[in-house]
Amino acid sequence: MNVPTEPSLSDLVIERVGFGIFVVDRAFNVLMWNRFMQDHSGRPPAEVVGKPIFESFPELPRGWLTRKLESVFQLGSFAFSSWEQRPYLFKFEHDRPITGGVDFMQQDCTFMPLMRGREVVAICVTISDVTHVSVMQREREEAVAKLREYADRDGLTGISNRRFFEARLHDEYVRWQRYGGDFSVLLFDLDHFKTINDEFGHTIGDTVLRVMAQRVGDVVRAQDTFGRFGGEEFALLLPCTTLDEAMIVAEKIRTTIGDTPVDAEGVSVPVTASVGGAAARAGMSAYEVLINDADAALYSAKRQGRNRSVAFV
Ligand code: GH3
Ligand code: MG
Ligand code: MG
Repeated sequence: MNVPTEPSLSDLVIERVGFGIFVVDRAFNVLMWNRFMQDHSGRPPAEVVGKPIFESFPELPRGWLTRKLESVFQLGSFAFSSWEQRPYLFKFEHDRPITGGVDFMQQDCTFMPLMRGREVVAICVTISDVTHVSVMQREREEAVAKLREYADRDGLTGISNRRFFEARLHDEYVRWQRYGGDFSVLLFDLDHFKTINDEFGHTIGDTVLRVMAQRVGDVVRAQDTFGRFGGEEFALLLPCTTLDEAMIVAEKIRTTIGDTPVDAEGVSVPVTASVGGAAARAGMSAYEVLINDADAALYSAKRQGRNRSVAFV
């Protein structure tokens, strides 16, 4: 007669431990199935033990898991799988709110060879629930991406800020030094903006800046970098563009700004801009030279009476 024996301490541990433990033999038959596996799969040991794992869980990634198990049987060494490579092995539900952005419990798995002498007789697989780690990591990545995006943008207008513009200009300068060709920069500055602020107020001044940036942004090409350079000063980097071509763009921008007054909070505000343009030229020792050239041309446009574009020659 069989007398029921008390479970051993290790049996109790395996039963209560907070991660999944199961064992398979060479034919992938399940030999052991702990409580964690039962609770999360809804399948008690009686249904799973003694049968091939793929029979009970046909949705498992068969090819991948077979290769993993085979290699442990052959090499007799541990194998691992992290949620970052393979988010989950079993389609277990997780206890995170749906908004966490993950579909199933994220799992780290270890594959441990169980040896008798020199032979691997079975493999013990452990499954850890790392959903909270993965959700935190994803949130962190999203936050970093957002910060990176904000770090490149101007808060008022949403276009590139000066730091980003200069970084792009530097890249373009390095490319030009190596391969030659053309590229140009336009600097433009709104005319008598102090008067606009004085007359209509700073808030309307801000709206004018936003609308200007939007209007100009709509007419520049996707390959160009358009940035806010300072208070009411903007810059446009035009890759593969000669000075003559750049000055056509300059006129387009000037008329885009000057032709229609800005409607800000019910007030019609007439705005014009002056534009200075410069192109990469032989002997240019740094990208700042191009900015200085464009700035000199802009200054000249202001001196000549504003609302005009001038090329640096
Ligand atoms: P000019 O035609 O010579 O460019 O005249 P200006 O008045 O535009 O020139 P100046 O550069 O002396 O003045 C720029 C003004 O732009 C001063 C400042 O109050 C205003 N300004 C700078 N940044 C902002 C901003 O973010 N919002 C608003 N509303 N005004 C700004
Ligand atoms: Mg100005
Ligand atoms: Mg200015």
